[in-house]
Amino acid sequence: MMMRGLKYAILGDVHANREALEAVLADAESQGVERYACVGDVVGYNADPKWCLAKVRELAGDAVVRGNHDHYCAYDDPLTGFHPLAADVVKWTRGQLDDAERGWLRSLRYSRGVETFMMVHGTLDNPEMWGYVFDKLEAEANFAYQMCSVCFFGHTHVPLAFEKAGIVRGGLYNRLQIVAGRKYFINVGSVGQPRDGDPRAAYAIYDMAANVVELRRVEYDIAGAQAKIREAGLPERAASRLAVGR
Ligand code: ZN
Repeated sequence: MMMRGLKYAILGDVHANREALEAVLADAESQGVERYACVGDVVGYNADPKWCLAKVRELAGDAVVRGNHDHYCAYDDPLTGFHPLAADVVKWTRGQLDDAERGWLRSLRYSRGVETFMMVHGTLDNPEMWGYVFDKLEAEANFAYQMCSVCFFGHTHVPLAFEKAGIVRGGLYNRLQIVAGRKYFINVGSVGQPRDGDPRAAYAIYDMAANVVELRRVEYDIAGAQAKIREAGLPERAASRLAVGR
């Protein structure tokens, strides 16, 4: 056994929200977190892509997977599949990032192992198709491709956990005990744009010694993040939704 005893903060859907990321990092430090990993969508929607990209890169290194916003901000592909609001911010973000930053986004893999766990943005079932996992049926499709016990994901911005012990069960979680021989597909929620009706930033701590995953919610300076979105001329809805967590 190597690297046991580590506490990981698993961050997802940071979406260029510096105020939320700073609050989450302070909370993680207070919880004794030693390592960081990210399930993708470092950029998009909010107004601080450069700072957030640099911070995630510094803390997580290559323990980061590619999200759909990361992908479309890294390449000049047409944005046909995107909601107009999201597409506007992707175009703006492309103009903010330099070649080195876009190159780093292009280097991110769709899925990867870290220590003993896996990470993917959407689902291990065709990760480049950016499928959403909200229910047991969608989780079952993922589990067919999940060979390890624990896999973390994001994309939906809704923190839910699925467990496969013969049948698949799933739902909300606060603290999850990982049981040997079972599989877990765990959404860590969104740091920068929560959509479960709770506007607080979300992330998870994986205590690898205790085999426990804990969901954390953290208050942050929402008004500060909103002011920057408006100042940058990004869509008003990107600002207003932060206050309601939708
Ligand atoms: Zn996202």
